[in-house]
Amino acid sequence: MGGTPAAGVLQSPPPSPSPTRGEGSAPSQRHRTGFDATQAWVFDLDNTLYPAECNLFAQVDQRMGEFIASFLGVPFPYARHLQKSYYRQFGTTLSGLMKVHKMRPEPFLDYVHDIDLAVVPEHPELGEAIKALPGRRLIFTNGTRAHAERVAAKLGILHLFEDIYDIVASEYVPKPQAEPYRQFLKLHGVDPKAAAMFEDMPHNLEVPHQLGLTTVLVHSSYVDHPVQIGIRNWQKPPEHVHHMTENLTEFLGDVLSTIATPKSA
Ligand SMILES: [Mg+2]
Repeated sequence: MGGTPAAGVLQSPPPSPSPTRGEGSAPSQRHRTGFDATQAWVFDLDNTLYPAECNLFAQVDQRMGEFIASFLGVPFPYARHLQKSYYRQFGTTLSGLMKVHKMRPEPFLDYVHDIDLAVVPEHPELGEAIKALPGRRLIFTNGTRAHAERVAAKLGILHLFEDIYDIVASEYVPKPQAEPYRQFLKLHGVDPKAAAMFEDMPHNLEVPHQLGLTTVLVHSSYVDHPVQIGIRNWQKPPEHVHHMTENLTEFLGDVLSTIATPKSA
C-alpha cells in the first residue's frame, strides 16, 4: 500500500512538470501549473514534510482535548466534541476557542505542541531533494514556529529553510482563509506566479491556486481522516490540485530531473 517509494508520483491530468510541455499555450498557464518558473518552494509542515504515517497529529489531537477539558472544566468527551465542532465551524479548534471563549492562544499552543517526536524519522533523502530545489524555500504552517522548528530539526531539514510563517505571524488567522496567504506572499516578497505550494489538505490549496501558485497535494493512503478518504474517492483531482503525490521525496526528485533538462524552445 501507500507510503513506500513504489507509491510514486501521481500526476493530475492537465499539467506535467515537463519544461517542454505547453510550449504552445499561454505562458501564464504553463507557469501556473508547472515548475519551470518556480523560484519559491512553500511547504506546509504537518503531514506534508513528514509522512502522515508518523501519526504525530494523534498526539496533538489528544492534547487539544485535554487542554479544553481543563480550560473549560468540562468532561473530556465533551471537550472532544467542542474541539471537533470548532474545527469544522472556524477552520481550526484554536480559532473557535479564541472567538467563543476569548481564550489566550499561547498556553494552548504550547501545551498541544509539547509532543514526543521519537516517531519522526530523520530523512536525509528528503533533505537532499529540498536542498537541490532552485530558489527560496519556506514553511507555511497553521502551527507554531517552535513546533515547526522542532519537527524540521528532527527530520534534519530545518537549516534548509529561509523562514517559517506560522499561526502567530498570521495573527491567528489560519489557512484556508485567504488573508494569511496574501500576508505571507507580501511579507516574504514571493511572486505567486513563480511559487509552488505543497500541502496535505486539498482545501488549503484553493487560495494558492486562485493566486497563481502551482499546487501539489501530498496525500496518504494510510490516514483515515475523512479528507484523505475523500481524496481516494476522487474520479479526478479538482481544478485547484495541479499535482498529487504520496511520496514527497520522489516527487521532488522527478521535478528536479525535469527542470534540470535544457529547454527545447
Ligand atoms: Mg498539514
